[in-house]
Amino acid sequence: MGIASINPATGEVMKTYDPLTDKELATKLDKAAAAFVLHRETSFAYRAERMIKAAEILEDEKDQFGRLMSLEMGKPIQAAIDEAVKSAWACRYYAEHAERFLADEAVETSANRSYIRYQPLGPVLAIMPWNYPFWQVIRFVAPALMAGNVGLLKHASNVPQSALAVEDVFLRAGFAEGVFQTLLVGASKVEGILADPRIAAATLTGSEGAGVQVGISAAKSIKKVVLELGGSDPFIVMKSANFAEAVATAVKARVANNGQSCIAAKRFIVEDSIADRFEKEFVARMEALKVGDPLDRTTELGPLASTSAVEDLHRDVQKSVDAGARLLTGGKPIPGKGSFYPPTVLTDIPRDSPAYSEEFFGPVATIFRVKDAEEAIRIANDTRFGLGASVWTQDESERDHLIQELEAGMVFVNKMVASDPRVPFGGVKRSGFGRELGPFGIREFTNVKTVWIE
Ligand code: NDP
Repeated sequence: MGIASINPATGEVMKTYDPLTDKELATKLDKAAAAFVLHRETSFAYRAERMIKAAEILEDEKDQFGRLMSLEMGKPIQAAIDEAVKSAWACRYYAEHAERFLADEAVETSANRSYIRYQPLGPVLAIMPWNYPFWQVIRFVAPALMAGNVGLLKHASNVPQSALAVEDVFLRAGFAEGVFQTLLVGASKVEGILADPRIAAATLTGSEGAGVQVGISAAKSIKKVVLELGGSDPFIVMKSANFAEAVATAVKARVANNGQSCIAAKRFIVEDSIADRFEKEFVARMEALKVGDPLDRTTELGPLASTSAVEDLHRDVQKSVDAGARLLTGGKPIPGKGSFYPPTVLTDIPRDSPAYSEEFFGPVATIFRVKDAEEAIRIANDTRFGLGASVWTQDESERDHLIQELEAGMVFVNKMVASDPRVPFGGVKRSGFGRELGPFGIREFTNVKTVWIE
């Protein structure tokens, strides 16, 4: 169904939208181009004042924004409220640090004076997913606007109300019209928009397939693109780990956001001597999760974002079981209204099954047993993805070895992988390229200009 908010907990169609006509789209692109001419000339102080106002709006209205996210894509209400607050944090972070991150950098050469200047690129198209309807957008828009770029958001077609709400936050914060706009368009429009000379660059968070398409479109017009794609993150538990903390965090790391996060831990790689105990406790904790209405504050696992998400996930679980994987719990969609899938755990994963090679976007965990750190590294790296990795060990040399050898954009030790405005976020291999957040994130959409004065 086109562009529509459908409550995944009930199946109720809440609101539908007509996509922009070509004429309306052209007007928005014109507005963005005109806004850039003025916005790029504004001072950091001017932008920061408005960015802080945006943070205040997000904090003041966190309950309404949280409810909206829960209704549109099903995340538990407290997590949704926390997302609005975290989005405010990113606004404040870049309001405070953008000027320093983008200050001229002197370079010693034979020139009389030489330095690097960071300048904005222009209107940037952000193609964003539904899983963190506010956070994904704001972690792009806060640095982009602070750098002097303007933003255009093509949000996922199932979260149009969130898309419009975020646009409204930045308008109310005092950014000029055209500085940040939502484009209610389907995915088929992206190639044309990206080819338009008014667009300077693009960023996508989403699936591998969308990444390939957007990468091709960007290449055709030689435009900069940042791709933040899927992950099949390992969660490695060695025998020296704090076991109780590791197993409790493992469950959280798998089911956060109803299991629909690129950095969710998906493959649990456990040293043999503790594997029986881990499996038993992990399964018990997964089974104890309270599944239900995301607006109920006691719910720990809400619905998947759509019925097709349930179908896709279940198909891969079924194929894996057919291929020989052993189902320890769950494994069948929950009947009734809404797109609910139960906490599910698989083990004895055959190498040729989807459970080994695909990203499971839902509350399905896979457990692997390994004899030592070498085997853990081999299995962890035996994937086309390379986003995050979580490592649980108290042994320093083992820790350092794992940090060094894991093919991932991010390694978290004795902690689950999480995004944080202060540190770069992104992956290697087919998880994408480029970085969001931190100083690297704000420099992605700048012209790194070399200045040489003889
Ligand atoms: P998609 O990649 O299809 O959607 C993400 C965004 O990309 C949406 O705005 C979508 O628009 C747009 N898009 C989709 N296809 C294209 C295309 N060919 N060209 C340009 N833009 C496109 O994700 P899904 O929602 O379908 O989720 C499917 C899978 O993607 C998940 O199972 C998961 O593996 C992965 N995923 C990863 C995320 C992450 O955080 N890394 C987030 C979401 C999904 P529209 O909604 O209009 O189709």
